Amino acid sequence: IKPAQAFLNGTAQFASALRPRASNSHKGSYGDVIVVGGARGMAGAPVLAARTAAYGGAGRVYVAFVDDGPAYDSAHPELMFRVADRVEFASSAALVVGPGMGTSRHAHDILARALESESNLVLDADALNLIAAEPALQHKLHHRSPPHGSGAPQSAIISIITPHPLEAARLLDLTTQQIQADRPHAARLLARHFNTIAVLKGAGTVIAFPDGEIVINPNGNPGLSTAGTGDILSGLCGALLAQGWSTRHAALAAPWLHGAAADQLVEQGLGPVGLTASEFIPAIRAVFNKI
Ligand code: AMP
Ligand code: MG
Repeated sequence: IKPAQAFLNGTAQFASALRPRASNSHKGSYGDVIVVGGARGMAGAPVLAARTAAYGGAGRVYVAFVDDGPAYDSAHPELMFRVADRVEFASSAALVVGPGMGTSRHAHDILARALESESNLVLDADALNLIAAEPALQHKLHHRSPPHGSGAPQSAIISIITPHPLEAARLLDLTTQQIQADRPHAARLLARHFNTIAVLKGAGTVIAFPDGEIVINPNGNPGLSTAGTGDILSGLCGALLAQGWSTRHAALAAPWLHGAAADQLVEQGLGPVGLTASEFIPAIRAVFNKI
């Protein structure tokens, strides 16, 4: 018997995480995000994630490049660029690992270090491809959070994976067709097997928890079917985690905010045809400030 599936009902399932900013707050109040990725020639992906983390309200945002990346983002010089080998993955920061990371041995070693940290972790793109290819990394991911059924609170789950259907297929050693044939089932398998929160992307994003709970995100539109929108989702998750949201609330809210931004752009007549990933970033900020 399959556990019941719920649909995200507006902001209700994460409303308790929405809090007004205290007037005496400072950047330290809103946390750090470190986006890890950007192998040579793929700097755009982590930069999109990092820009979204900043627009999503994080206090400070870093990009840790796998290889030496650009010196800074001229459109957003507030982002701080580093070389990953020289960045410590302190447990005080939210880590977003994978955008444009590549699957080199070096990327693998950086990912292994991130998996060993105690930080809240969002894994996307090449981080997932690396994990799919290596049981030792799968083992590290599985053991970051306490085993299901151990009685540990849900807040002890410190990882979120955000595969699209092809990445999910690689992780589960299935075909994309098999994933798409029963998306809730696939998301549940991912969450159980890797002991993590799984966000299976695509129309009707499915958010699954290791205990079998399933929530389906109802908003968004094919304007999102363009390069870079997945990077934006991962950066937004990082921003919410940095601001102290639980992994549960971040995994529920990020797809909803992302979809709501896309719907708003279409309502404004700017899409769905030809929207670019960068345009979703200020739209997400606008939605976030309105709710
Ligand atoms: P990625 O494939 O990693 O770039 O991620 C694409 C992002 O856009 C995910 O968050 C998807 O859920 C979203 N997306 C793509 N196409 C659609 C669609 N037709 N309807 C709703 N969301 C979509
Ligand atoms: Mg992607």
